[in-house]
Amino acid sequence: MADSRPVSDDSGPTSQPTAGGSADSEDEPLLVVDELQTTFYTDKETIRAVDGVSLDIEAGETVGLVGESGSGKSVTARSILGLIDDPGRVEGGSIRFDGHELTDGSWEQHRGDLSIVFQDPINSMNPVYTVGNQIREALRIHQGLRGQEAREEAISLLEAVGIPDAPRRLEEYPHQYSGGMRQRAVIAIALACDPNLLVCDEPTTALDVTIQAQILELLDDLQREEDLGILFITHDMGVIEEIADRVNVMYAGEIVETAPADRLFDEPQHPYTRGLLASIPGRTAEGDELPTIGGEVPTPTSEPDECRFAPRCPAAFDACERIHPEHVDVSSVGTAGVETTDGMSGAEGTRGMEHTAACLLHEDRFEQSPGAATFEANGGDSQ
Ligand code: SF4
Repeated sequence: MADSRPVSDDSGPTSQPTAGGSADSEDEPLLVVDELQTTFYTDKETIRAVDGVSLDIEAGETVGLVGESGSGKSVTARSILGLIDDPGRVEGGSIRFDGHELTDGSWEQHRGDLSIVFQDPINSMNPVYTVGNQIREALRIHQGLRGQEAREEAISLLEAVGIPDAPRRLEEYPHQYSGGMRQRAVIAIALACDPNLLVCDEPTTALDVTIQAQILELLDDLQREEDLGILFITHDMGVIEEIADRVNVMYAGEIVETAPADRLFDEPQHPYTRGLLASIPGRTAEGDELPTIGGEVPTPTSEPDECRFAPRCPAAFDACERIHPEHVDVSSVGTAGVETTDGMSGAEGTRGMEHTAACLLHEDRFEQSPGAATFEANGGDSQ
């Protein structure tokens, strides 16, 4: 739901790398996140939950953020919305929304422009207020609507998200809605804030596949009508294939690959992305065991001087243990690491669009292990 909690003083950055306030936003994407650093300080350790993340979203575009649980996706979303609580802090990098820097403490001024839809609709709504009350409250705060005007707008929002008999449903409580209808209602509350950017944090994970498909279609329709920018967070590569225009793959606090969606699915260049894609049901031959990525996502507790994926990577070689890979342009690299002749090798329509990966396999200066060569030759399958 749209979260209207005040921004804690603690969520402000300790450094301010870019100037705040309005800027020349004409050519800038709706959202530009640059080298974002969000850290949690506990008695035992310092967790670099978001460690130098950069991404951008244009108006009317859906950008996916994918990765396993614990990779930092939700902390990235909450950082963008200014919802990091103690003991966490956004302490570095820049978040520019519509030309305005947010990390200088300006989240509250843009609260209605950025809305979030969480995974669990029952916990996103207040059980003691009717759905109508909750939509009208958002309309009052963010659009200044009251009385009959607010009621009519609330009805039209419920209708827009596909809830039948909206005038009656408005007066019901969240527990009287089914799971799919609750998620639609949460989206209606988010839309009541009249946002330009909608952050969807695993919004379909708790729903069955039929309802999931309906919610994805709803988001698609709303985006086209409202020209919304959407950041869609999920661990489900199947969902991201369906909805995203571009995709960022996140691992242990870092983005390790970014590409247009069709290019990422056709020509993944990071071993982690390949592992995620290989584990989508239906991609393996019938009767074959579904491949998995062994091990778990590590908790990033220090500045990396290695590849954080190395302990789990089937293509790891010596240098991976001592050098932290930077993003390199892999737009012209094909599936088996072969340079293509025309500068691209993915699906139609990806020419000139950026595809980068943070993996030493793509840096010529290293002599790789035979295992890495086999991995490449097999198109990312280490078997
Ligand atoms: S840098 Fe090395 S360990 Fe990391 S993903 Fe690439 S090959 Fe694997």
